[in-house]
Amino acid sequence: MPTLLQQPLRLLIDGQWVGCASGATMDVINPSTGEVLAQEALGGAADIHQAVQAARRALESGPWARMRPAERTRLLLKLADALDQHGDELALLETLNTGKPLKVARLFDVGHAAECLRYNAGWATKLNGETRAVSLPGDWHAFTLREPVGVVGLIVPWNVPLAMAVSKIAPALAAGCTVVLKPAELTPLTALRLGELIVAVGFPPGVVNIVTGLGTEAGQALVAHPGVDKVSFTGSTAVGKAILASAAGNLKRVALELGGKSPVFIFPDADLDRAIDAAARGIFSNTGQVCAAGSRLFVHRSVAERVVEGVARRALQLRVAPGLEADAEIGPVISARQRERVMAYVASGRAEGAEVVAGGEAIDGAGYFIQPTVMVNTTPAMKVVREEIFGPVLCVQQFDDDSLEQLAARGNDTDFGLSSSIWTRDLRTAHQMVRRLKAGNVRVNAAAALDFAMPFGGYKQSGWGRENGREGVEAYTELKSVAIDLN
Ligand code: NAD
Repeated sequence: MPTLLQQPLRLLIDGQWVGCASGATMDVINPSTGEVLAQEALGGAADIHQAVQAARRALESGPWARMRPAERTRLLLKLADALDQHGDELALLETLNTGKPLKVARLFDVGHAAECLRYNAGWATKLNGETRAVSLPGDWHAFTLREPVGVVGLIVPWNVPLAMAVSKIAPALAAGCTVVLKPAELTPLTALRLGELIVAVGFPPGVVNIVTGLGTEAGQALVAHPGVDKVSFTGSTAVGKAILASAAGNLKRVALELGGKSPVFIFPDADLDRAIDAAARGIFSNTGQVCAAGSRLFVHRSVAERVVEGVARRALQLRVAPGLEADAEIGPVISARQRERVMAYVASGRAEGAEVVAGGEAIDGAGYFIQPTVMVNTTPAMKVVREEIFGPVLCVQQFDDDSLEQLAARGNDTDFGLSSSIWTRDLRTAHQMVRRLKAGNVRVNAAAALDFAMPFGGYKQSGWGRENGREGVEAYTELKSVAIDLN
């Protein structure tokens, strides 16, 4: 049993592990079994205030404020190595807390987090301003400076807890910011173990603070705190909108990575075996709890039968089991509440006339398991097609002689705009669809293409801003224009 689970869970504030001011706790549940794993401290406004003050002190005085960029690089690389060294333990904690297969947690969640640290570590020494050729009368030296935006509040969801926390911490620290992280209340474990490693590798006190607790209390307090300069939030669109309102008090900068309802288009000339495999993985991986999940499948009528049959077969073959079982391919959804939510969507799809051709039922037992589900005969007005389900439910629609204009419009007929994928061997079709789709990320003939060099984020109600790449790290900076009159 990981040592983290043998002690009361605490908050990390100013380099110290402390209890929360109220003493309130909440059970942390294993979604594969319904069993209690630990007691989480429910931080609130008082704890957030302490954490923000510690982050402010670390930002403005002390070793972090004086640290050269190359030293920040070295610390981030040390943290990446620490994640690798403790990879098995971190993966075990992630699997216990989310139910996802252990090998996925080890390779993807922990591996991704370590690589994200390495990618962003390099940016610490490459965040430059530039000289500008100004046309003012006289003789000028004009240039820009990039400075850390300041104290940043980071709020993350429960679907990929460690990797998501690191995807915000790494660029924020590379840019020289200090942070207060609020993990999702359902999944605090890996964030807290990460906090231990952050202390162990030598980040100065107050640079990273971690306050666990409810979104409506700790999260809300962080977003509204006047000492926070920026909030970076990943989660639902509804909470993203609430965050915007709360952040208005001091006009703090806001970055939002929100929900999606991403389309997948399969044209008749596609490599159908690969497309089928990717369509299934795109909706069933992580039990469908992926913001960029390909949840709306548009398939050409001439190949619809083969594609639907292929995806449905994969849905039926997938081994749905607790993540600790060696052959588990997909785990449970995160909570009993999430299972009810997903099942209510399936029921609404049936009631509105969709046909379930695979799955469609919750799996009896203590854990929160759901059969991977494929629904056909879905139409644009159905709730299952309009709303993000965040579960393993694919909605299939067909197209026939639609023009690419019409087809793209069908794909764009959503409030979201996070991701999309196109399966065709025809270059013209691919490029014309790429240009027409209103989505932050488009993949062509590819199942997944997450790379830290590529900006990630949404159009429309899928968010504000981009993570990853130069844009992702520059998002943690302010730009200062300097003009010096040389006369
Ligand atoms: P959620 O919005 O309910 O919660 C996300 C986080 O916000 C949690 O830490 C929660 O405690 C906190 N929170 C809740 N209410 C808050 C408030 N009023 N003020 C401040 N913080 C608050 O989302 P979830 O159910 O945990 O996660 C699922 C959602 O996340 C889905 O919509 C999914 O699409 C989205 N998501 C998006 C991305 C992306 O990169 N675009 C990635 C993963 C998940």
